[in-house]
Amino acid sequence: MPVLVLFIKIWYNDAVMKVSRRTLLKMSGLGIATISMLPRVAFAGRNSVLSMRTGVQPGGKTRLVIETSLRPSYDISYPQNQLVISLSNTAACSVSPKLSGGTLVKNISQVQNGDRLNVVADLSGTVAPLESSQIMVLSPNGDNEYRLVLDFVGGVASTKGTASAAATSNTVAKKYVVVIDAGHGGKDPGCIGKGGTKEKTVVLSVAKKLKKELDSIGFKTYLTRSNDTFLKLADRAEIAEKRHADLFLSLHANANPSRATKGYSVYTLSEKASDEEAQKLAETENAVDKIGVTGFSEFSKEIRVALSALQQRAVAELSEEYASDCARAMDNASIDRLPGPSIRHAPFAVLRSTVPGALIELGHLSNANEEKLLKSDAHQNKLVRAIVKSVKNYNFDV
Ligand SMILES: [Zn+2]
Repeated sequence: MPVLVLFIKIWYNDAVMKVSRRTLLKMSGLGIATISMLPRVAFAGRNSVLSMRTGVQPGGKTRLVIETSLRPSYDISYPQNQLVISLSNTAACSVSPKLSGGTLVKNISQVQNGDRLNVVADLSGTVAPLESSQIMVLSPNGDNEYRLVLDFVGGVASTKGTASAAATSNTVAKKYVVVIDAGHGGKDPGCIGKGGTKEKTVVLSVAKKLKKELDSIGFKTYLTRSNDTFLKLADRAEIAEKRHADLFLSLHANANPSRATKGYSVYTLSEKASDEEAQKLAETENAVDKIGVTGFSEFSKEIRVALSALQQRAVAELSEEYASDCARAMDNASIDRLPGPSIRHAPFAVLRSTVPGALIELGHLSNANEEKLLKSDAHQNKLVRAIVKSVKNYNFDV
């Protein structure tokens, strides 16, 4: 036991200070996770609210998250300067809501009405009825149970309250840092299409376009490479660490021996690959480093220490959230998806860091049609728009 305590202490001193506030928040919840592993005394089939929190999203959006033990069934109504979420067959939450500054939500109260629980958010202005794109129900992952997530800004009615809400919505509370990694480069072309299109060229072009778009809406972005140079995988991960990135996106294009295979795919880091294809892909992407002959010993000591199981869990959970936002945005943009699961997992070296992120295979250069698309400005812009949407949807602060 003393060994364990010592380990946690060293790990805390060395590594935790450099991870994001969100990750810290998640990790501080680990104690709670232990408690929640005790048998729950619950009424069969009855839902309960476990936690409620607010946060500011890019563009000054307010995010309200209601965590529930079962998938929530809800109605939303909009009384003057309020948002009321009525949850059916649900018991109230015993934990106080966590309210962030700078949001439209001033206070949250709960009113039990028979079987229904009304969660009443008092707002600093009115909000327009939410569209379906502003409401998400997330499935349990890691420490979280089901979450009903609502994103909104101040309404358009010309009342005094709304004017101040509108002012809030134009303020970006914090510049979130996104590191965009164009895969391969220099002596490593990545995969090459039949028409001669090189992966390194396509992904650099998409990375530059993505940087421009994200910068224009208030993110702070960095490219791991802005020209045709070779970079080791560990160096790419290290750039994300040094820039204190909130999100890391590694862009790639795929190849498959079957020329008919096409579609994008999104990957997060896992020591165990989700399927054989994912494992093969990770081996191919990781193989680039054999050119430079480097290994993980090249990571700085802090990063190696930081890659503890505990922290990996927090990073994995956030990465998973982003990856599902990304897959949804690509699907919504009608970009072909590689058949199979929307998110896959594999041990990609470039994703080994304390920064949540994903590796996106934008499409298959081995497929003649997709090779043509991937070269075209129009399709690259379409991919960029989808990724921008996913970054905007990603929950940076809660
Ligand atoms: Zn690649």
